[in-house]
Amino acid sequence: MNIYDVIIVGSGIAGLNASALFDKSKKVLVLCKDNSWNCNTFYAQGGVAVALDEEDINLHIQDTISAGDGLCDKEAVEILCKDGFKEIQNWIKRGFEFDRDKDGKLLYTKEAAHSKNRILHAGGDATGRYMHLFLMRENQNTLLYKSTVTDLLIEDDICYGVRVSHLGEIKNFYAKSVIIATGGIGSLYEYHTNSKSISADLHGICITKGIKLRDMEMLQFHPTAYIHNRGARKQLLSEALRGEGAYIVDENGKRFLFDYDKRAELSPRNIVAQAIYDYRQKTNLEIYLNFDNFTKEFFKKRFPTIYFNLKDLGFNLPDDNVPISPAFHYAMGGIETDLNAKVKGFKNLYAIGEVASTRVHGANRLASNSLLEGIVFSKRAVDDIESKTFDFKIKEFSKNEDILIKDGDKELKHQLRVLMWKNAGIIRSYEGLKSTLEWIDDKLDQKRGKLLKLRLLTSKEIIKSALKRKKSLGAHYMI
Ligand SMILES: Cc1cc2nc3c(=O)[nH]c(=O)nc-3n(C[C@H](O)[C@H](O)[C@H](O)COP(=O)(O)OP(=O)(O)OC[C@H]3O[C@@H](n4cnc5c(N)ncnc54)[C@H](O)[C@@H]3O)c2cc1C
Repeated sequence: MNIYDVIIVGSGIAGLNASALFDKSKKVLVLCKDNSWNCNTFYAQGGVAVALDEEDINLHIQDTISAGDGLCDKEAVEILCKDGFKEIQNWIKRGFEFDRDKDGKLLYTKEAAHSKNRILHAGGDATGRYMHLFLMRENQNTLLYKSTVTDLLIEDDICYGVRVSHLGEIKNFYAKSVIIATGGIGSLYEYHTNSKSISADLHGICITKGIKLRDMEMLQFHPTAYIHNRGARKQLLSEALRGEGAYIVDENGKRFLFDYDKRAELSPRNIVAQAIYDYRQKTNLEIYLNFDNFTKEFFKKRFPTIYFNLKDLGFNLPDDNVPISPAFHYAMGGIETDLNAKVKGFKNLYAIGEVASTRVHGANRLASNSLLEGIVFSKRAVDDIESKTFDFKIKEFSKNEDILIKDGDKELKHQLRVLMWKNAGIIRSYEGLKSTLEWIDDKLDQKRGKLLKLRLLTSKEIIKSALKRKKSLGAHYMI
């Protein structure tokens, strides 16, 4: 039997940071669905938000709470900003190198709705990739690739391990503690910026086990993505571009955002995304990101990833305008946890990072707070597990698993994405949500593969939550 002290599902910032922090005496297994780098962490561009000094912590808390539009848990936000300040210092001590100026001083950039420049970055616009590489180098635990978790082994509200499909074989892995760190829900939407490994499987599994999801209607749509590239994952144009002076125009050169909010490009994300979507619907004009404020030299140095990705797509930056659209980006809601990342109502089960709902983001995430959340709450989960002694009795589960994929699932998966984008996207209506719910219920009645069923269940939960919240709040916009 495969028995571990801890199983961590997911190799993004939350999962790998937890893996790095466990005492070396612990037998830890890390699982990921595809290759290790196929996660949202790897693609994070802008940076990590962190208080500039002890005095700035309160302002970071206030900015987070005001972006969250009344839905944040104040205690959770205080933990995020206070512990986050300490943990980033620990990362620097551990050897992580954020970008610095020629005198060695840390470089901080600005992103929307932050009242100060407090975003640290690495490799210009490659923060996530650098952090992921750093954690991969630190990792000393077994990391099993191509391992899709298809079930949680739970009985009487106690979690004993996970069921995994590994290269076509079904296996059970057992542990004293299981940490879910599987990220968000990106590929439920037609247009999204997320890694292809992010398809809400664990959210769906939680629904089947009676584990509570919270705030699932609170989904962040990034205002500036280039959506004409092939492949499901759309090319993000980081918020830091606007922080450094890029601006949004229609095809006639009009900066129409001022008609929606006087902060224009630096309004919170939900406002910019909703404004772009609304303006396009009303005028049918193409919308662009303009880089007139940049020199080529600065652009290439500060945003090398975006420069080369867009060059491959035929753009000459900063001279060309890039057509943009909002795209699904980040899930504020998720598995309900307490402030030590424990899944409420279940023993030996934790959730950290984007998959969890600690309510640090409320109804709208403040830019660059999510890498910080992964760092802070992975540490809290590790501390909680390390502080306990376990009287663990193994319980064996059968390895029977439903068929994961059936003929026709792929087409339905695509139809679901289109419907979710259209009816459970940036602007929602009662009728659109209701008709999509009926479509989903119909598909759930059919005999479909388990992986599609998990997507359908999570989508249903998003829609049910959206229907329940009748008034617009933060990222949830009802007409
Ligand atoms: C393009 C982009 C840019 C971003 N930029 C920033 C930024 O600048 N700053 C910021 O703070 N945030 C940013 N974000 C958000 C941030 O990157 C994510 O919220 C964060 O990285 C999530 O980390 P995580 O560890 O929770 O999950 P992820 O990094 O997404 O990792 C999830 C892991 O779970 C695994 N997994 C999923 N399902 C299963 C399964 N069924 N079985 C086994 N394994 C599974 C995946 O394989 C993966 O290893 C950005 C996001 C995107 C997409």
